[in-house]
Amino acid sequence: MSGTFLGMPTAPPRGAGNLRGEEPFPAAARTELGNTQMRRNVGKATRTIRNKRLQVTGELPDWEQLRSAGAAVKRDVMARLPELLEQFERAVTERGGHVHWARDAAEANAIVTGLVKDTGADEALKVKSMATQEIGLNEHLADEGITAIETDLAELIVQLGEDRPSHILVPAIHRNRSEIREIFLRSMPGVDPGLDDDPTHLANAARRFLRERFMRARVAISGANFGIAETGTLSVVESEGNGRMCLTMPETLITVMGLEKLIPAYADLEVFLQLLPRSSTGERMNPYTSMWTGVTPDDGPQEFHLVLLDNGRTATLADEVGREALHCIRCSACLNVCPVYERTGGHAYGSTYPGPIGAVLTPQLAGMDTGGGDPNSSLPYASSLCGACFDACPVKIDIPSLLVELRHQHVEEARVSAEQLMMKAASTAMATSGRWTAAQRAAQLGRLLGRGGRIRTLPPPGSAWTAARDLPVPPKQTFRQWWDSAEGRAAIDDAHREGGRP
Ligand code: SF4
Repeated sequence: MSGTFLGMPTAPPRGAGNLRGEEPFPAAARTELGNTQMRRNVGKATRTIRNKRLQVTGELPDWEQLRSAGAAVKRDVMARLPELLEQFERAVTERGGHVHWARDAAEANAIVTGLVKDTGADEALKVKSMATQEIGLNEHLADEGITAIETDLAELIVQLGEDRPSHILVPAIHRNRSEIREIFLRSMPGVDPGLDDDPTHLANAARRFLRERFMRARVAISGANFGIAETGTLSVVESEGNGRMCLTMPETLITVMGLEKLIPAYADLEVFLQLLPRSSTGERMNPYTSMWTGVTPDDGPQEFHLVLLDNGRTATLADEVGREALHCIRCSACLNVCPVYERTGGHAYGSTYPGPIGAVLTPQLAGMDTGGGDPNSSLPYASSLCGACFDACPVKIDIPSLLVELRHQHVEEARVSAEQLMMKAASTAMATSGRWTAAQRAAQLGRLLGRGGRIRTLPPPGSAWTAARDLPVPPKQTFRQWWDSAEGRAAIDDAHREGGRP
């Protein structure tokens, strides 16, 4: 074979930004599991949303057909993504919008910051957006002297609390109302010092704070739930009306949209606007659905910029199996049914995208460096593979299979994994009966390490195995020892008698 470089493209770059935690999932989860208040808050909230979702999805006779339709549309989008993106760009431009392409978080941040600076504004309103969280836009704007103001109530709580979001839909799901009151009293300028924790009073405090900012805003930054290739229309769905204010009042609107949010035609919204609210908030219809197409003279923002974000999406699309994760419409149903997420909360995942979808999307967008203890390489194991996420997903993403595939890739690429070491040790020990007997005797020493019937930490190299799981304490006797004992012999004699044998 020729060694001449024939100009084949290199692998697409991975994404950057808030897509990597500081420690592997097992260590982060252990810390979070100690936070009983968080566990109580998350457990209560996910239970409530879960029950509402079951009720409203159960009342639609064609729910399964809707799910299949959503999955089919998304499959079609991924198969034709380059062509649809070009169609979308043409449509947005023809209607007076400006389209910018961003390969990664750094490019997207630089584009948005430049656009805000061009307006002369030093603050920008934000509509809740996973894409801008993913790229760390608020932090970047702050470094450039621009204040980003989150207008979604839960995002505002996270921002004022200098916290991190822990849920796709309800970023402050880990906070209860008395914690929210404390945050408002501590960090909300002009708040009534007598504020109590009544939910209506808390919402009114946020409304007063935000209304003043809506009135003076010159720039708003949004994400997008859907971009329609056929017409160049963008859509944001939300529940509080803050999005509607941001999308209509400022002079300049900047939207950051992940490439995968595209749908081919306006008619496809019919499917997704039924799937999304029922799966996310358990509502039959979304309270505020805003749509805009380019610029309309004398109505709404007169300057519209769309930043199309790759940040690892092309790399994900290149994976035949893993690309299914790009079908996600960010409803968060998979989080609300996941037994792992319910106990650890979202912070343990270390990424903008927590829960089951985060466990497959994050390592694909940002990669998992299998050799260097990358926290992302632990995410595909953050699941019991119970399958509840697959059942709940409105676009039928087979998350358990994606998790297994990522585990497979991790094992294939890892130089040496804990599992490989343990399996190799087990295979050596089981090779002869003498070795196996000696290994069983040695294992009985493990009884000294057990507490409450479990061994939680083994000394190295076994510590790699117990980092993410515990072990039962070995029994007092091996089966062979029991067989040779008086008790064993008596049991065997009894069995013979019962079986009628001499
Ligand atoms: S993977 Fe499915 S269930 Fe989970 S957030 Fe995405 S669309 Fe919703």
